[in-house]
Amino acid sequence: MGLRPCLCTILPPHVLRELLRRGTPRQQDVAWRTLTVSERFRGERATLTPLAAVAATPAGRKHRTVYDAGRAWHLPGRLVRSEGDPAVGDPATDEAYDGAGAAYDFYLEVLGRNSLDGRGLRLDATVHYGRDYANAFWNGRQMVYGDGDGELFRRFTLALDVIGHELTHGVVQFEADLEYEGQSGALNESFADVFGSLIKQRALGQTAEEADWLVGAGLFTEAVRGRALRSLKEPGTAYDDPVLGRDPQPAHVRDYVETEEDNGGVHINSGIPNKAFYEVAARLGGFAWERAGRIWYQALTERLSRRATFQEAADATLAAAVELYGLRSPEAQAVREGWAAVGIRARRGLGRGRRRRRPRAAPVTPPAGRARGPARTPGPARAGSVTPPAGRTSPTTTAAGSADRAKL
Ligand SMILES: [Zn+2]
Repeated sequence: MGLRPCLCTILPPHVLRELLRRGTPRQQDVAWRTLTVSERFRGERATLTPLAAVAATPAGRKHRTVYDAGRAWHLPGRLVRSEGDPAVGDPATDEAYDGAGAAYDFYLEVLGRNSLDGRGLRLDATVHYGRDYANAFWNGRQMVYGDGDGELFRRFTLALDVIGHELTHGVVQFEADLEYEGQSGALNESFADVFGSLIKQRALGQTAEEADWLVGAGLFTEAVRGRALRSLKEPGTAYDDPVLGRDPQPAHVRDYVETEEDNGGVHINSGIPNKAFYEVAARLGGFAWERAGRIWYQALTERLSRRATFQEAADATLAAAVELYGLRSPEAQAVREGWAAVGIRARRGLGRGRRRRRPRAAPVTPPAGRARGPARTPGPARAGSVTPPAGRTSPTTTAAGSADRAKL
């Protein structure tokens, strides 16, 4: 389990790059600020709430706190709502609070998991982060939400699946800790989309047939031609817009996108395992979190290793289905067919799909004021392929390179 600072953003860099290329000067400015936020964030990491304080919450309790950054770029901001406080009337604050609650309840009531770390980790969120910041992210210890620019993007707390997505990055971090690169990175993204979606479906009481299977519906304004950021049911169809470009997600391994951008296309190739999950859930019917979700969760927590491939994910979910429901169960058959639909043949009993025996760390409270685990120093900035809007000076160019490297 790693507690490395990362920036797992909901809006992938390719969308912002399109905006940088084709947007109006103001939109380019928004895209630029949003893309380079990791550089700002890095400088502020030292001011974050020490994880010791975060982790000290007694187990077994839901504990949410929401901070308001007041449109500044500092974290965490001013405390505006704590667990049990009544609604404050600010939509972003109350949505962040309620969304974290829905995610917490989902993990506890459906999967028996007490918060992201399984031990009641406090759920911290900051709203109104930055000026016109068009993104939301999990930074390794808390949620951060921007207000959007109002022109193309609305506030990011609007979408419950976005909140669920980002918090699930926390769960992944504490479990398989999938490396945020290539196929394991796409799996990391996919688990976040899958459970983000299931959290929304459960809150809405929707079956697999009733759900829209979209991620981030409602984030785009009417100015954008698109329904959402991604579609698990039909990857590649969520948006097609003159400014933001077209949803680039593949739905089959034959269309796997080889790219150096976006950590090897983690937000692009996640379409493949996303589609596999949808196919499994559609075959099983009913509430997708009850069986398909449980199978995926068991694979994530018990079987996957940090560098898992799509093939290993297929094998792991099949093994989980067999373990939970039996070899000849409809669930195991649905998993086989779901992966086959995206071009992957799930295999049983092959080497790396075997059960992971990872000793769980004993609950330890780190010394006061000290974060648990060393903070990883980010690598050197790489030359970015982003051209800053006219008038930008060179120092920010390195920021783009760093954004490239960061876990986006
Ligand atoms: Zn993500």
